[in-house]
Amino acid sequence: MKLKDWCDLNRKFFTESDFRYLINTNFSFESCFETSTVFLSDENVVFLNRVLDRYRNGEPLAYILGKEEFYGLEFKVNPDVLIPRKETELIVEYCIDLIQSRKFVKVLDLCCGSAVIAITVKKMTAMALNLTAADISEKALAVASENSQKHNQNIRFVASDLYSALEGEKFDLIISNPPYVKTGQIEGSLKFEPIIALDGGFDGLFFIRRILAESLIFLNPSSCLVIEIGYDQRLEVIELASKYGYDIIGWVKDYSQHFRGIVLRLKETKNQ
Ligand code: GLN
Repeated sequence: MKLKDWCDLNRKFFTESDFRYLINTNFSFESCFETSTVFLSDENVVFLNRVLDRYRNGEPLAYILGKEEFYGLEFKVNPDVLIPRKETELIVEYCIDLIQSRKFVKVLDLCCGSAVIAITVKKMTAMALNLTAADISEKALAVASENSQKHNQNIRFVASDLYSALEGEKFDLIISNPPYVKTGQIEGSLKFEPIIALDGGFDGLFFIRRILAESLIFLNPSSCLVIEIGYDQRLEVIELASKYGYDIIGWVKDYSQHFRGIVLRLKETKNQ
């Protein structure tokens, strides 16, 4: 069978970006164009049809292929970790600028999952960073550790329920993409992702509240805390941040102009 024929039949079942990613994993995308004479081996056909079946059943392509691209880098993913999202890339970009302009050295990725944040920040920053990545899930840490080896980045991984295993430490920058989806809104393709990485309780704010309460003693006066939040959580998080003793010094917006990353520092009065 020609690749072009398989593509003509099945392209409609995929989103355009997933379709391109799938074809590019094994062939060049140009190979499915009109004039192409690329033929599929029997194994190729079995592979593509198997991907198609799983995809049509709602499974995210990243889990089917076992990998996802983030910030132009390829990371291993499996159902023990969240699939990295575009909005997180924007938060990482902001953090890289922050690290470089403020000369931060000690950085923590809290609730690291597959560690895309820690690894990308370390790899893309033109400075020697001391990076720690923490997660409560040992299974997620196994994926994270594979990813750090794949990208040759030396990161300290810690199994920790938020800060439980980090007592007494201070960080220049703490970045967290915690679970923040409301329990009642874990539906659709989210059902394929690990509930432990998504479920933020009835209002989605269970871990954000805990992070705000527990981070205070892990920050220096000049440190920053950057937390990814849900698209509709801005007002509630502003209120919580002020209640727990932070100044908001910046925001990261996503591609839909929602405020998705809150950038915090200890309140001035607490600095004296
Ligand atoms: N970005 C994910 C979503 O909205 C949620 C990630 C999280 O809870 N940290 O689907």
